[in-house]
Order: sequence, then structure tokens, then C-alpha cells
Amino acid sequence: MNPSETPLSVVRAILDRVLDAAFPARCAGCGREGPPLCRSCLPALDARLDLPAGVPLGLPAEIPVPLLQLEWCAPFRGIVRDALHRLKYAGERRLAEPLGMAAARRWERAGVGADLVMHVPVHAERARARGYDQAELVARVAARHLDLPFAAGLVRVRATTAQFDLDRADRAANVAGAFAIAGAGSSRVGDGRVRPGADVRGRWVLLVDDVMTTGATLAACAGVLEAAGAMAVSAVTIARER
Ligand SMILES: [Zn+2]
Repeated sequence: MNPSETPLSVVRAILDRVLDAAFPARCAGCGREGPPLCRSCLPALDARLDLPAGVPLGLPAEIPVPLLQLEWCAPFRGIVRDALHRLKYAGERRLAEPLGMAAARRWERAGVGADLVMHVPVHAERARARGYDQAELVARVAARHLDLPFAAGLVRVRATTAQFDLDRADRAANVAGAFAIAGAGSSRVGDGRVRPGADVRGRWVLLVDDVMTTGATLAACAGVLEAAGAMAVSAVTIARER
């Protein structure tokens, strides 16, 4: 291959290996050298695994309309918060595997149904700067483990203020109109494979995100999907911040 034609993804993969060799991976929880989350820290992701589905959220409306179901793996603290920060801000992409598997485990245990997995996208500029969209990585892993198709079918059309800087009412206003269907109607569902610009009509979508607080962001995405004809929208996140 002519080096000038080397795709960016290949360059990135090589760079990742070089960096991995130079900086051996450490556990995001305890700092021990080895996998991105070691065996003693992994169970933190399953803090809620054995809880029954539908545990009250302590929100004014139990589940933000129009979500059908909302589940999460663990509280946003300690090892779980450290792991999500490492995935989001420190480029530790390998964490998507254990985090996505945790989301799949919780959903397998508590989820009522869904036939298509999607993620809550970050703004394209942020994904470009970071090199990836962390929620997409997690959602892809979860979809694989749930044996469901994945579609990168939503886009964030407007950059939003970080939700943790806002109070409850402002959070809903902040995300209103922030999402849209990607390339609406540009591809069809039918062979079980869905491409960006997915037709979500009649589908039961499982939204995956890294952290939820009030659920306003998930509800905004669900509204867009239902307006595009989705039959129902449920959601699972890795953590919930209170
Ligand atoms: Zn550890």
C-alpha cells in the first residue's frame, strides 16, 4: 500500500499499539497494570444486576415520557465513574468492552424487549476531536452481546451545555431540538441490518448512553425516534448520576 493512501483508521490503529506498548494499560478502578478493568473492580459494574426491573427512579415522573423503560447498571461513583471518565476523556477505548457487556447484562436481566440498539450521540465535532463517540462504542458492544442489530441513526444537531451545569427545568430545554434522525429515510430496514439513516418505523429501540441524570437527554432522543415512527423506545445506561 502506498503510505500516502493509508487510511486514517489504520494510522490510528498503529498509533494505538505504539501507545499501548509505551504506556501499559492500567485498571481504571485501582490502577493495577493489566486489563482496563481488573477482576476485582469489574463487579462494581454489576451493582444493580440483581435488582428487579422497574425500581423507582425518584423522579417527579417515574420514567421520563416517552420512554417505556429505563435501566442502569450502577450509581455514578467510585470505580464506575473512574471507568466512564477514562473512556470519555483519556482515550481508553478498550473500556467500551466491559462497559457495554455490563449494559447488556443488566438489560438481559431487566429489559422487557427491544429489537434495535441505538446510542445517544455526542456532537460530531466532539466525536472528531476525541476520535470516537464513547456511547456508540458501548452501544455496539451491548448490541453484539444482546444479539440485536445496531444503528447509528441519531445525530446531535446542536451542541448542548453539559447537563450537570443545569437544573432540572433547564436540562429539558437544553436538549430540546438537539437531536435528529441521521439522513432520514436514506436506507430501509428489512434484512435485519440497519444503516445510518435507519428507518425506525415499527421498531422497538433500545437507547444506550454512558450516564443519565434526569433522563432528559434520553427522553429527547426517544421523542425524535417516536416522531420518526418508532413503536417504542427503552433505554439503558451504564450509570445514573443523582
Ligand atoms: Zn482494578
